[in-house]
Amino acid sequence: MRDTLVLNASFEPLSTVSLNRAVVLVLQDKAVVEQAHPVLRMRGADVDIPAPRVIRLCRYVRVPFRRRAPWSRRGVLVRDRHRCAYCGRRATTVDHVVPRAQGGQDTWLNTVAACAEDNHRKANRTPEEAGMTLLRQPFEPTPADAMLLSLGQEEIAALPEWLARDAA
Ligand SMILES: [Zn+2]
Repeated sequence: MRDTLVLNASFEPLSTVSLNRAVVLVLQDKAVVEQAHPVLRMRGADVDIPAPRVIRLCRYVRVPFRRRAPWSRRGVLVRDRHRCAYCGRRATTVDHVVPRAQGGQDTWLNTVAACAEDNHRKANRTPEEAGMTLLRQPFEPTPADAMLLSLGQEEIAALPEWLARDAA
């Protein structure tokens, strides 16, 4: 894991920073380490501390502009926890609710995780046309979710459980 996740003082995920930047924030008492790498250490002239994986800012930072999550196939699979929106089994594909052939777009609200079988069965039809029911409605991830979605699988796996439960 190269980057360190930065939480606001309110524990809300804010951004990621480089490992070096994270260490500087901790050494300047601007942040505290919430979770450290079990093995990796940061060593310098006056420093020898475990590499921080998650830090939390000591002071609350007001964020005026919340970034919207850019749509991605991987993001849809993570948002839906790799569960098919039609049958609940493991999903490996992304289905367009309104098919692209009918003008459906690559958006959070028009895409769901789907198993290959259901995706194939639905083909270029809407759920109504295919006689299929969505088990849940697609939704746009919150900015905090977006931050988690932007992390790699390996990084998500390394997060503390209380933080990762919404991301994986
Ligand atoms: Zn399915």
